[in-house]
Amino acid sequence: MRLSQSLFKTTKTIPGDEQAKNAKLLIQAGFVYKEMAGVYAYLPLGLRVLENIKEVIRSEMNDLGASELLMTSLQPKDTWEMTGRWDDETVDVWFKSKLKNGTEIGFGWSHEEALMLLISKFVHSYRDLPGGVYQFQTKLRNELRSKSGLLRGREFLMKDMYHFSRSQEELDEFYERAKQAYLNVYAKLGLGENTFLTFASGGAFTQFSHEFQTVLRDGEDTIYLDRAKKLAINQEVYTDEVIAQLGLKKEDLEEVRASEVGNIFNFGSVKGEQMSVQFSDESGNRKPVFLSSYGIGVSRLMGVMAELFNDNRGLVWPKQIAPAKVYLIAIGDEKATNAAEDLYNILTERGVAVIYDDRDVRAGEKFADADLMGIPWRVVANNQAQADGYEIKDRIENTPKHMNAQALVKLVA
Ligand code: ATP
Ligand code: MG
Repeated sequence: MRLSQSLFKTTKTIPGDEQAKNAKLLIQAGFVYKEMAGVYAYLPLGLRVLENIKEVIRSEMNDLGASELLMTSLQPKDTWEMTGRWDDETVDVWFKSKLKNGTEIGFGWSHEEALMLLISKFVHSYRDLPGGVYQFQTKLRNELRSKSGLLRGREFLMKDMYHFSRSQEELDEFYERAKQAYLNVYAKLGLGENTFLTFASGGAFTQFSHEFQTVLRDGEDTIYLDRAKKLAINQEVYTDEVIAQLGLKKEDLEEVRASEVGNIFNFGSVKGEQMSVQFSDESGNRKPVFLSSYGIGVSRLMGVMAELFNDNRGLVWPKQIAPAKVYLIAIGDEKATNAAEDLYNILTERGVAVIYDDRDVRAGEKFADADLMGIPWRVVANNQAQADGYEIKDRIENTPKHMNAQALVKLVA
């Protein structure tokens, strides 16, 4: 991408009502645009970050054998009445509206009910199960407060997976595999050290659900963490009884702030019973389908990463998530520009994402933007670059190295 052709720029102006560090940084770097509280647009660089996070998640979900689909935002009232979740007393985040003919509709904040109805049209016998599906979808939730930037959107991107099984044992087996896949996701995003499996309130069927909480100073949740055991208890279920039940000790638990980056639920046969979604077993008996669901806050993760990965000069993306691997700058006359153009073409052909800052602005401004955007490698082409090599500097190091195009490609590709 050539910056001279980009419509967007870094900025020093942050909306007056923005309090969250993640949003401030991402707005300054030109990654997101604040439409209103809890509602952000993803600009080209921000979208690339989001896509890179999605790719990490997608590969883990595919490894679990789940297939990707895309459900609808407009949700019929009847579907949700089947389980009592249309009621605003039960679900306090509904956005609702009416069709022209007066029919009430809701905007999808989750998709368990919709998926149960959908699969009931395709699943009839034990031979059709088990199976799982997932989606990346914009969820709409009428959150009471939305002051944490991307950590709490009224419109936000979630990955939600739904798994359908024939028995509790089959569900439990998949649930354990999914738990591991979730831990893999956080590890690949560079959050492995800070993210903990957390016991949280369960809901209709189980005593607990499992959350994945990333320790964060400005996180909205409080958890009690046993660092050695890599387990935590959410404040909402933190009692002496629960501590004992989980085999933990109060004196080993540390109170920390954290952000919920994932939540997985075991619904057992509850939804299948409520919605009469059934299958025929080997003996021809009708049985309810068992459901488990698995959410990850994709845009929240982007916010968490912005909160954690930064310094006084701006963002510091992990290499696999950064919107580009290289930020390329030419300093000198035509010779330097030619060297930069050459490298830009070589890297682009090799599929390496490059931000080429070919704007007519001071070099200092370009350096500052490279740092603010958090691009892993800053490469400078000067008049001697073709002969003596390019200057390459890691975002987190102070001294640059020199190398020719071939070595450089090898390093960053
Ligand atoms: P919270 O307790 O933070 O309100 P939740 O428990 O209501 O979240 P879930 O229904 O468990 O959320 O949704 C699955 C995942 O989606 C969460 O673990 C979180 O990572 C993400 N998520 C939920 N609400 C939001 C939101 N308003 N903005 C951004 N991400 C969200
Ligand atoms: Mg949750």
